Amino acid sequence: MSPADSSRKQVLIVGGVAGGASCAARLRRLREDLAITVMDRGPHVSFANCGLPYHVGDVIADESKLLLASRETFHARFDIDVHTETEAVSINRAEKTLTVRDLRSGEQRTLPYDTLVLAPGAAPIRPDLPGIALPGVFAVRTLVDSRRIREWLREKAARRAVVVGGGFIGLEMVENLHHRGLEVTLLEKLPQLMPPLDPEVAAPLVAHLAAKGVQVRLGDGFTGISTAESGLVVHSESGAALPADLVILALGVRPETTLARAAGLPIGARGGILVDEQLRTADPAIYAVGDAIEVRDVVTGQEVVMPLAGPANRQGRIAAEAIAGRPTRFRGVQATAVVGIFGMTAASTGASEKGLRRAGVTDFAKVYLHPGHHAGYYPGAQPIHLKLIFSVPDGKILGAQAIGGEGVEKRIDVIATALQMGGTVHDLAEAELCYAPQYGAAKDPVNLAGMLACNVLSGDMPLADWDGLATTAALLVDVREPDEFAAGHIPGAVNLPLPELRNRIDELPRDRELWLCCGVGQRAYYACRFLMQRGHQVRHLSGGYKTYQALLAARAAASSGS
Ligand code: FAD
Repeated sequence: MSPADSSRKQVLIVGGVAGGASCAARLRRLREDLAITVMDRGPHVSFANCGLPYHVGDVIADESKLLLASRETFHARFDIDVHTETEAVSINRAEKTLTVRDLRSGEQRTLPYDTLVLAPGAAPIRPDLPGIALPGVFAVRTLVDSRRIREWLREKAARRAVVVGGGFIGLEMVENLHHRGLEVTLLEKLPQLMPPLDPEVAAPLVAHLAAKGVQVRLGDGFTGISTAESGLVVHSESGAALPADLVILALGVRPETTLARAAGLPIGARGGILVDEQLRTADPAIYAVGDAIEVRDVVTGQEVVMPLAGPANRQGRIAAEAIAGRPTRFRGVQATAVVGIFGMTAASTGASEKGLRRAGVTDFAKVYLHPGHHAGYYPGAQPIHLKLIFSVPDGKILGAQAIGGEGVEKRIDVIATALQMGGTVHDLAEAELCYAPQYGAAKDPVNLAGMLACNVLSGDMPLADWDGLATTAALLVDVREPDEFAAGHIPGAVNLPLPELRNRIDELPRDRELWLCCGVGQRAYYACRFLMQRGHQVRHLSGGYKTYQALLAARAAASSGS
């Protein structure tokens, strides 16, 4: 540190990637009078960890493309001192000092601070299982990790990989290893991929991966790794022994709290550092941001850890504003996330149905729809499978999830913005969105989702409970054409095509509730409206046979375990 710095108030930042680097740069833009020092135990700061799987896959071949800013840039542009390969080892809160170790020389130094920001991120979970530290077993967190994986692939001429964990990093690694020509097996303990999604929304991922030749093993936990003559062998709870030249562990992450814990800073029930809305810890001189902290989920009101780049970057900026004396507050998180795999996109925002149930929330409803991503008459429309969850009776948006080809993330982003603004399904129905045939529809999927939900709230379209299908006394009426019905239908359903309904209404009982189904929900809705106005008790099976098939696939995975 230069002598001139000692007269300035000292801000020390531990961790120089998403949260730490954002905080440092924003703070300099607000306060020229502070001395700002960033330290990171790794050899790089401000690198794009989200790009690492694509570097492994050679989609981003040049490692330097992932380096967003260097030590030199920080110094020249912002007068920020960056110390790489420098680990923060302890905090003395009483004396307001931080002890750091130079990882090259082993030398320790103690630095005074006026304000300390902790942005240490989260570490990949490495369960204490046999073989976890064997050569060829990798987690993906840093540029050094991706470099080692690339070297291993090259040196061993690897042909077979096992990826453990089917969350977004696991899926991205599957795609990228497949891209490099490897045979890939994906092992996931849960009966679904992408745990933030509800199982019926995530269900199409399995067939999609299988169609690319990826072997997906759901409901099969990882128990360890051994070696054989041919390389590594990954073992699972079902007794499978999966040969591999390379194993990627993508089992999630755990907040890095060693420093904070040792300094006596409170840690929450989810394992993250506790902070207030200005991201200040229990010690007013210490802030914490990013994957290491607990934050409020704006939908459920619960404290969560949310290891995503967007929140980490925003928190870095907000902590800088708070340090600079501005009143900015962090609003909380809503878990907006997206993953792309082999041309399929899955995205979500807000709460999932299973998350709400876990949180004890019951006053909500959900609609399913499967519209095209743009006007059907324009070539190339691909379906988006969308689930919208909203509170009853006020219609507040609680969450949305979608899966499909094109245009998925655009719809989820629109709903995410409405959710963040405290919007309702009426706002979605009314949203004025871009439309030309190649981009959307005059009633965009977002509008349609809002309209369906409004129909539920107004009583125009009472919903049947998909979970009650097996036990209901209602008559299931499928209003599709006979050839569609013959190609597959819900067991027990009778077929009465919509165009014949008006003439054949007397065939339907008046003393029994009718549950109406079609392909995706639209024709059944028309039938509902007609029959309701003729005095029948009706309910709508939202999303129709498409949703039924997705629910069936999810249930089959849950009961079979693979
Ligand atoms: P990090 O960015 O992890 O930075 C923490 C830094 O602190 C690290 O460099 C670490 O070495 C350093 N550090 C820790 N302890 C110390 C110490 N004691 N002394 C010095 N330095 C220390 N999020 C998305 O939203 N979208 C994505 O597509 C996406 N893809 C991802 C892909 C991968 C492979 C990974 C690993 C993450 C991805 N993420 C993604 C998550 C996102 O990168 C993180 O949420 C974000 O980087 C968290 O920022 P952070 O500043 O809290 O921690």
